[in-house]
Amino acid sequence: MAEKESNQPADFIRAAVIEDLKTGRFTRVQTRFPPEPNGYLHIGHAKAICIDFGIAAEFGGKCNLRFDDTNPVKEEVEYVESIMQDIRWLGFDWEDRLFYASDYFEQLYEYAVKLIRKGKAYVCDLTADEVREYRGTLTEPGRESPFRNRTVDENLDLFARMRAGEFPDASRTLRAKIDMASPNINLRDPVIYRILRASHHRTGDAWCIYPMYDFAHGQSDSIEGITHSLCSLEYEIHRPLYDWFLDELEIYHPRQIEFARLNVSYTVLSKRKLLKLVQEGHVRGWDDPRMPTLSGLRRRGYTAEAIRDFCERIGVAKKDSTVDLALLEHCLREDLNKRAPRAMGVLKPLQVVIENYPEGQVEEFDTLKNPEDLAAGTRKVPFSRVLYIDQDDFREVPPPKYYRLSPGREVRLRSAYFVKCVDVVKDGQGKVVELRCTYDPATRGGDAPDGRKVKATLHWVSAAHAVPAEVRLYDRLFTKENPDEADEGRGFLANLSPNSLEVLSGCWVEPSLAGARAGAIYQFERQGYFCVDPDSAAGRLAFNRAVSLKDEWARIEKTQRSG
Ligand code: ATP
Ligand code: MG
Repeated sequence: MAEKESNQPADFIRAAVIEDLKTGRFTRVQTRFPPEPNGYLHIGHAKAICIDFGIAAEFGGKCNLRFDDTNPVKEEVEYVESIMQDIRWLGFDWEDRLFYASDYFEQLYEYAVKLIRKGKAYVCDLTADEVREYRGTLTEPGRESPFRNRTVDENLDLFARMRAGEFPDASRTLRAKIDMASPNINLRDPVIYRILRASHHRTGDAWCIYPMYDFAHGQSDSIEGITHSLCSLEYEIHRPLYDWFLDELEIYHPRQIEFARLNVSYTVLSKRKLLKLVQEGHVRGWDDPRMPTLSGLRRRGYTAEAIRDFCERIGVAKKDSTVDLALLEHCLREDLNKRAPRAMGVLKPLQVVIENYPEGQVEEFDTLKNPEDLAAGTRKVPFSRVLYIDQDDFREVPPPKYYRLSPGREVRLRSAYFVKCVDVVKDGQGKVVELRCTYDPATRGGDAPDGRKVKATLHWVSAAHAVPAEVRLYDRLFTKENPDEADEGRGFLANLSPNSLEVLSGCWVEPSLAGARAGAIYQFERQGYFCVDPDSAAGRLAFNRAVSLKDEWARIEKTQRSG
């Protein structure tokens, strides 16, 4: 838990912020969340959002939303909109501080000119392949570009003409002049501008040169007066470059601090891979309930509270690790257990006829909406002669320790009566298609006045009153804990699970759910949490199983404690 019990900062970032305020390096806290609008946000971004917005709020500061939109080829308005929706849903607010790196294109261009004037940047005519070849490797230094020593005037002229559109795409670049022998490859004269004729979702065709991410990011932080630029660990090796630009430009200098990227077992968290899943149709879209995107998790039935709780529990560390998917599910159960109304739903129905219950009679039982939240009140559940129970709750020949219904055995129907199975009806193939039962009127409400006990309580619905539904059961999207661990030459797609989705039609839910709206979440008693899918139409409800009731994480924690 990232909780502070002894006034100690909860993690190294908070410690660094406290230190900076103490030494006067900064006198306020200003952070930013900087997504590139080239995909939907995922649970890893949720971690970053909670850190960026959370730390700002804790120190009385502000957090900006800034789109790092420097690559028009991959960026789209659809992504911009989904990102804003997801951040708001998660519970954070950038107020009037919505920015785009593209708003700074003119300023960034001026910064580049300043570097050229200082002799710190040059126009290079090498092709992309040649630039790569000259760059060297981790063990070999790079070689200097033959264009490295152009005069300032020549560079100024060429850069202006790059902007004016005089040269074809990719024929020239502007590069920072740093050190081709640096052990840090990012400092080997990185490209800072490229020629690219592509319409930008905001600036249209105003530009045919675009700054590279590294050149845009730090300077955007500087322009916005960011104090702490918090990002994931893969940017650590870019930090010397981040600092170099700000120092050479002699402008306000924020501090970059890196934290571990979130990885989750059985999950991929790379936008490139998520896009591939969408584009190749392995899932229904970015918001498929099997996706680790915020829109997918939301559709599945995840709440913002559960995701924020998860982000707090995983804390902020400096070293990369993989978090168990079971922890995320555990956080959801904890939240929904408190809040989700209960309901009865029968997924694989088996018809039950109560032989001694009068035909045409109906009675209604008042049942708690949520035993964890008495203020939620009660709901009415109708009972009649013909019911459905789940096929799993009956065994003609019960195995040892199977206490549910079987011939001759008595069980409780939740909130209703004790019933006893007196006969079994089979079809021509010998499959059980109906149970004949009797009920004991004295057990109304679910207890026997003579003190007689039953070992099982089943959920059920009244056949004449129940509402039809389709239920989608989800399982992990990948079969491997680390989906990237694939056999030679086969990518992560080789580990896609063939069983990640099971659609059950012909399910029945209690009638109180008839008008349930998309997004509503219920606990189907004894089974799990189910969320109404937007696919639902009047009279045709569709539910996504968010998570089952079986808590894998509680088991893991228990074995960790005793182990
Ligand atoms: P990709 O996964 O395609 O490389 P990205 O995750 O870097 O892209 P950005 O839009 O650049 O996508 O990310 C915005 C912010 O979210 C960055 O500051 C990044 O550090 C952070 N972030 C992204 N993925 C994770 C993750 N898995 N865990 C923690 N933070 C993340
Ligand atoms: Mg990125």
